[in-house]
Amino acid sequence: MEEGRMLSAMLYGVEDIRILETDIPRIGSGEVLIKNKISSTCGTDVKNFKRGYPLLKPPHPYGHEFSGIISAVGKGVKGFREGDRVAVHNSAPCNCCSFCKKGLHSMCSDITFNRGSYAEYVRVPETIVRQNMFLLDDSVSDKTASLLEPFACAVYGIESSPIRLGDIVVVNGAGPIGLMFARLAVRKGAKVIVTDLLQNRLDLAEKLGVHQTLNLTGIDDTAKAVRSLTEDSLGADIVIEATGLIDVWNTSVQMVRKGGFVLLFGGTKSGSVLEVDATLLHYSQITIKGVFHTTPRHVMTAMELLKMGIISGEDFIQNEYALPDLEKAIREHASGAVIKNAIVYGE
Ligand SMILES: [Zn+2]
Ligand SMILES: [Zn+2]
Repeated sequence: MEEGRMLSAMLYGVEDIRILETDIPRIGSGEVLIKNKISSTCGTDVKNFKRGYPLLKPPHPYGHEFSGIISAVGKGVKGFREGDRVAVHNSAPCNCCSFCKKGLHSMCSDITFNRGSYAEYVRVPETIVRQNMFLLDDSVSDKTASLLEPFACAVYGIESSPIRLGDIVVVNGAGPIGLMFARLAVRKGAKVIVTDLLQNRLDLAEKLGVHQTLNLTGIDDTAKAVRSLTEDSLGADIVIEATGLIDVWNTSVQMVRKGGFVLLFGGTKSGSVLEVDATLLHYSQITIKGVFHTTPRHVMTAMELLKMGIISGEDFIQNEYALPDLEKAIREHASGAVIKNAIVYGE
């Protein structure tokens, strides 16, 4: 077992990140200690930086996307050894509550979330070790492996959408999650249109093989602009919202064709209200669905897709920083100048 001190980041409040020297976490039975190789920045980290964690009292261990090497295994751990390279998801359901029993694992009443990935070592709880940790082979880089959590969320969202070959799929928002959705929709055989305000993100969307991009800068009626890209302006078969802005939730509903499907993915500020024209819902027979987080089945699928090279960390992560520069990495992510950044750790 590793003993000693390490550097780790804590979020003390709104825009207050501190890098502290702390004890390397001690692990219990069934748990694993990871020597971190890379942590990637996430829109959720940006939200927590700007708004705090609404449900928890600060300070908090910060960050949740990472991959590394096992430096110690607790008693009873099966299938993993010291020295293994692993990808680790940030959560695991209990499998015992009534939601889990109904197969709604992302709604688990007793879900375990692991925080604190911006640290030189990360403790992985037993339930995540058993359900959502994976051995890596050389086909997956550390950077790519660090995308497991967000990618698993996009996989869950796409699997919740009835995409058919040749469908027009509009993805609103070309941040990391929107781009993952777009890439998966392309691979599902859809004609994919991506909208955003930032050209650098739309350029990456094109690199990922989408069929059309639309820069919404200066466009007032975004729903009309998107509909005009579809046959007779009938609207898209599927619209996916990946910005977390309530205005975009509202316009997404207006972009879909009669009988179409809208997936609202991006978490909005609490208190946000979606306004839907009831007549539209009735006469146009549209379906509106929300999704939250992911499930072990989709984490496993995401891992397989990462091994297949469906997305790569090299496309999604632009700049690397050392842990003391975390705030800079987060602020740059927030600015939209990059899709994601990475914190990398020395030997
Ligand atoms: Zn994330
Ligand atoms: Zn549960």
